[in-house]
Amino acid sequence: MIKIRSNIHTFKMSPYSENKTICESGDIVTFETLDCFCNCFLPESAVFGVDNPKYSNPATGPLYVKNARCGDTLKIDIIDIQLGNTGVLVTGPVNRHFEDHLKEYKVNRIKVENDIVNLTSNIKIQAKPMIGVIGVAVNEEISTSLPGVHGGNLDCSSIAKGSTVYLPIFVEGGLLAIGDLHALMGDGEIGECGLEIEGTVTVKVTLIKDKVISSPRIETDGFLEIIGLGNTVEDACENASKEMLRYMIQDLNLDNHEAAKLLCLCSDLKICQIINQVKTVVCRIQKSVLEHIG
Ligand code: CA
Ligand code: CA
Repeated sequence: MIKIRSNIHTFKMSPYSENKTICESGDIVTFETLDCFCNCFLPESAVFGVDNPKYSNPATGPLYVKNARCGDTLKIDIIDIQLGNTGVLVTGPVNRHFEDHLKEYKVNRIKVENDIVNLTSNIKIQAKPMIGVIGVAVNEEISTSLPGVHGGNLDCSSIAKGSTVYLPIFVEGGLLAIGDLHALMGDGEIGECGLEIEGTVTVKVTLIKDKVISSPRIETDGFLEIIGLGNTVEDACENASKEMLRYMIQDLNLDNHEAAKLLCLCSDLKICQIINQVKTVVCRIQKSVLEHIG
């Protein structure tokens, strides 16, 4: 099995990356990841504002998949996510949702043991490990903090163990990078932070040749989901809905009005995050509904 250590990371999804790890379609690869703060708040003595990392959202990789070319799609089965034992959540006047009530920043270190988040001594919550950043390179360098059609900082809680992510490939090898694990995050990521945590992600990468998709897709146990992006949540909703309609018409060969009926009656919009410069929303439909179509 191939393992990429967390010191092999990047802050840019870049076609020029050095330090590529090479694999073949069908390989299983483990990515060891730092938390989004480069683990700098793990020491008890670290203080927000003083010890902040120079760059955030390190993504481990990139992974070069042999024979991957622009016009293909990369299928990424998320086999496992293992979490470290300490998550970090920064609370403070991060945005307008918080500034009336929170005047200073606080670094909260929260123990995670056996997938239980020990929020306080008497509040213990089941962890829901997810991947915040998963993306490939495009023809120009793009920060790992940004989401886009290449993936990146999607912060979609469905990107979890057992789900499959489909990303369009833009450059030779695809150049997959993964980071920004959350032990737990509420949809919307209202406070600009999930429970940020280091860990390892094990995936199987499979190349789908000559298959073009126009936006990242996620398949979970129950749903097919398509990511919509936009500078506002409204734009992201519109784009997610358009992509779902396009998928039903072009990939499922449904009549336009039949597809519209399904979109109206059986699809949901779910906010991923509202805090990055580009917002992400998914439009999802139950797979059981699609099975009726065949
Ligand atoms: Ca994120
Ligand atoms: Ca994060």
